[in-house]
Amino acid sequence: MAFEGLSDKLSAAFKKLRSKGKLSEADVKEAMREVRLALLEADVNYKVAKDFVKSVTERAIGSDVLTSLTPAQQVIKIVNDELTTLMGAENSRINFSSKIPTIIMMCGLQGSGKTTHSAKLAKFFKKQGKRPLLVACDVYRPAAIDQLKVVGEKVGAPVFEMGQIDPVTIAKKAISHAKDYGHDIVILDTAGRLHIDEQLMGELKNIKSELKPNEILLVIDSMTGQDAVNVAKSFDEALGIDGVILTKLDGDTRGGAALSVRAVTGKPIKFVGMGEKLEDLEPFYPDRMASRILGMGDVLTLIDKAQEQLDLGKSEKMAQKLKENSFDLDDLLEQMKQIRKMGPLSQVLSMLPGVKGAIKDEEAEQGEAQLRQIETIINSMTKAERAKPAIVNPSRKRRIAAGSGTKVEDVNRLLRQFEQMQKMMKQFSGMGKKGKRMRGMM
Ligand code: GDP
Repeated sequence: MAFEGLSDKLSAAFKKLRSKGKLSEADVKEAMREVRLALLEADVNYKVAKDFVKSVTERAIGSDVLTSLTPAQQVIKIVNDELTTLMGAENSRINFSSKIPTIIMMCGLQGSGKTTHSAKLAKFFKKQGKRPLLVACDVYRPAAIDQLKVVGEKVGAPVFEMGQIDPVTIAKKAISHAKDYGHDIVILDTAGRLHIDEQLMGELKNIKSELKPNEILLVIDSMTGQDAVNVAKSFDEALGIDGVILTKLDGDTRGGAALSVRAVTGKPIKFVGMGEKLEDLEPFYPDRMASRILGMGDVLTLIDKAQEQLDLGKSEKMAQKLKENSFDLDDLLEQMKQIRKMGPLSQVLSMLPGVKGAIKDEEAEQGEAQLRQIETIINSMTKAERAKPAIVNPSRKRRIAAGSGTKVEDVNRLLRQFEQMQKMMKQFSGMGKKGKRMRGMM
């Protein structure tokens, strides 16, 4: 996960502060030295790291922080506030046009994730009830047009293309097509190069001046660290961008780009890409990201994801089953599938307060493997066995283990855990309102 190194180092620095009780100016300065090193190691721009530490130190020393009852807590709060400010303070949204369609121009270097994120955005807008049209303006590589068609089909958004002709002509035709067919958003997937060059910039400027897009989004790859920030600076100076989509934040990037882009370009990060799948796009909230970095979790994004991915009708039914104590292994399987839809376990867990750092990636992977094992075991059971696990006798256990490629012990373990779960639920059912709340939490 991104920011792992940074999070670990920051929490080490804060642990030292917390262990001290009363803090002197020297303690704060020492902690800030560690914070600065942690930022630099995370590939944060040198000047950004320096300014950051300077403003945290000024605020920590200059106020009543040191004489307060919980000085370490106050310092951490200041770091949290400043991290949030550094990344842009508020969530920046897309500028929608009052005229239909809204035109979004995507640009960026080749491989940054432009085509993938054009489709991710289309999916995101479709969920909001909009009707996006994807437009293939990357005319140099025929493969790029095909790729856009593939991802467009996956998200159910039509792709407008005219082959390898002048991109301005394509974009103009696409706008009138959008008007004719009732598309309210047009997403232009423009050409990328391996490096910034004059010709590319010339072409993008041309599209900008002819089409007057409402939003120019630059797609940058967070894995490229400082380079990503330099690319953002150059694109902004040459073309003028409205915001950034920072991709591949799911990888083992050190996270420096996320922390420096805003400070260096003055342009906000609007979305982050968190994986290769087309639903792996999150609106960027600086405060939520700061709290993820500081290991305080991000419950709000988790709730958003749950609301997006979970089938509320099914959840109601489950709640009813829990209440009646008729929850069976089939239901457990269904619940597990729903949770898996929210993303890899490591990502979901890292959004819970206090879990980051407490659970390492390997452990989350083990957990993931266990979930998969439980699923295969349940899948090897008959309908009757899932509904009434008590009938699973030794010969059935052997059959299930053989069918799922597991051992009889694994089957036993699952049955034991399920039995415990049922017992717990029975207790809650006898607890009235409080029990209901507890069941809800489960
Ligand atoms: P383009 O050349 O800028 O259009 O880039 P593509 O959209 O073709 O993406 C380049 C590669 O990066 C592809 O293999 C994508 O699957 C991958 N990719 C894009 N976004 C993400 C992301 O957020 N996370 C991860 N892990 N991979 C991504």
